[in-house]
Amino acid sequence: MLKIKNLHASVEDKAILRGVNLEVKPGEVHAIMGPNGSGKSTLASVIAGKEEYEMDQGEIILQNENINELSAEERAHKGIFLSFQYPVEIPGVSVTNFIKTAINETRKAKGLEDMPAKDMLKLIREKADLLEIDRKFLSRSLNEGFSGGEKKRNEIFQMAMLEPKLAILDETDSGLDIDALRIVANGVNKFKSKDNAVIVITHYQRLLDYIVPDFVHVIHEGRIVKSGTKELAHELEEKGYDWIKEKANA
Ligand code: ADP
Ligand code: MG
Ligand code: MG
Repeated sequence: MLKIKNLHASVEDKAILRGVNLEVKPGEVHAIMGPNGSGKSTLASVIAGKEEYEMDQGEIILQNENINELSAEERAHKGIFLSFQYPVEIPGVSVTNFIKTAINETRKAKGLEDMPAKDMLKLIREKADLLEIDRKFLSRSLNEGFSGGEKKRNEIFQMAMLEPKLAILDETDSGLDIDALRIVANGVNKFKSKDNAVIVITHYQRLLDYIVPDFVHVIHEGRIVKSGTKELAHELEEKGYDWIKEKANA
């Protein structure tokens, strides 16, 4: 699904990623952990093709295609989804209307007609039911006055509707209460299939009590310094990140 080879990236001429290698196969869930400022969000942004990030070296391969030169929009159309890609508040545009537009834009990029309204409605209902999303929520204005949990619900709904090949969820450290954690975890668990892959980025082990990853990677100073299975996340919970840092610097 995704292969990252020797990825180096910088922001404003400051080197952040210093040789990341990662392979994610279809059907897998990978967790990326690491101390604050280690480069987790940068990695997510570079994979998604955000413009502020400069790729200095390496290759990003999605389904056997090198996507180094593709824009964020083109990558989204190829099936990469990054949470918080659309954090804007749009008064007067509902959760539903926003996602309808996003879906039809993706179809247009593939040379397809708009999805027939009937099919769209069916899809929306199916996904909302799957994620236990209240119909009333769907007519709310996008992100306007959303609580932390509602923002998560919206993101997960967007993910479920867009059916990406690779979903990257960057769970920032703050504001994730237990409800929000459950929304994200249930969403991911219902979304994942043998044909897609998920990368969950988190600072804390707690989320991984609900989403069981196949692999856990630890980033430190822009490199993956340790990879393992879910036990690694528990080890980090117990011991913190210092032992990883010491090992990496040894
Ligand atoms: P993490 O998500 O692991 O906490 P980040 O990827 O957000 O880490 O940040 C890694 C480093 O890159 C930090 O030192 C941060 O200050 C810097 N950085 C990230 N994004 C930007 C940006 N847009 N402009 C300037 N510096 C940035
Ligand atoms: Mg951070
Ligand atoms: Mg971050």
